[in-house]
Amino acid sequence: MTCGINRIRCCAHSLFDTTMPESQATDPQAPLLTDRFGRVINYLRLSVTDRCDFRCVYCMAEEMTFLPRQQLLTLEELAFLCRAFVELGVSRIRLTGGEPLVRRNVLSLIRSIGELPGLDELLLTSNGSQLADVADELADAGVRRINISLDSINPARFAEITRTGELHRVLKGISAAQRAGIERVKINSVIMRGRNDDEILPLLEFALERQLDISFIEEMPLGDTGRDERREELVSSEEIRQHIGEYYPLLASDAASPGPSRYHRIEGSDSRIGFISPNSHNFCDSCNRVRVTCEGRLLLCLGNEHSVDLRAVLRSHPGDLDALKQAIVAAMDIKPERHHFYDPEQPQVVRFMNTTGG
Ligand code: SAM
Ligand code: SF4
Repeated sequence: MTCGINRIRCCAHSLFDTTMPESQATDPQAPLLTDRFGRVINYLRLSVTDRCDFRCVYCMAEEMTFLPRQQLLTLEELAFLCRAFVELGVSRIRLTGGEPLVRRNVLSLIRSIGELPGLDELLLTSNGSQLADVADELADAGVRRINISLDSINPARFAEITRTGELHRVLKGISAAQRAGIERVKINSVIMRGRNDDEILPLLEFALERQLDISFIEEMPLGDTGRDERREELVSSEEIRQHIGEYYPLLASDAASPGPSRYHRIEGSDSRIGFISPNSHNFCDSCNRVRVTCEGRLLLCLGNEHSVDLRAVLRSHPGDLDALKQAIVAAMDIKPERHHFYDPEQPQVVRFMNTTGG
């Protein structure tokens, strides 16, 4: 007989020698993925590759060594993993990377995830370089929202920040996504002092003109990108908000945000304007997400190293959905309460953002 969800609750904790979260022990209806702090996990961000055709200065070093292919989860393993998470109550999956669209046959993975019963939202984060070629297929596969990184609308500046990127391809990708009927296309902009902080308004106006959403992101100190001036170049969300406010009054948006983005809007526009402030505001209290790296490491927090090796479970119990679910449920017990970015008392994260999945 296969192990049902109730048995998962019972055996997950004996198998992994952890204590069942109190909420689950007392309430059989409690969501299966609940951590020690009562946070319900219903959102998975999955990195499908560490490779990328760009080398953004805040994300990667100029010279990168990528993982050998056998260390990456196969497309079948990735699909199986998504099924396990969805059966455990995850209703939203974001595919990210590296650049998810450079992974060969990624569309077949996207289609199979899109068909999972119980999944409400399939989302993608992309640098946009390949989007023009696949936007229609993504829309057909059920992708409703896409986030696209764009830190400059000046071609020379864009090439400097991404080191290898071409702006015109990304702009083409953005238009293709909108034409394909992707419901919300959002720009993600990391603002760095002295590099692109003079483009806050041009990026905002670009978004407003094209009816895109936009989030301004504070740079996080992940991986050794070879930029020693990282901390000095940090521009806080508050500073960006104030700068925008001098030109455009920002109104509170009623757009629900279960994540770290806090949304605003501008009179007369439907665009949502978000600020992601991992350094200046701690959004950990309402954290509803976990990440899986392209090697199958379940990361319980972006800013900590607490993790569980799901690839080991997948490969030691091939095709065993219950073993996988047990490992995921048990992992909830080690989700840390909060991150400690830029805290000199705490160890810094050496992982690069491209393996982690932003
Ligand atoms: N390649 C895709 C892209 O660029 O959108 C997806 C992966 S990328 C790692 C996901 C997001 O992480 C991007 O929006 C990028 O701007 C952001 N990001 C990367 N490194 C970051 C860092 N050190 N701090 C803050 N955001 C970062
Ligand atoms: Fe590639 Fe995205 Fe990282 Fe830029 S931010 S290097 S596009 S993974």
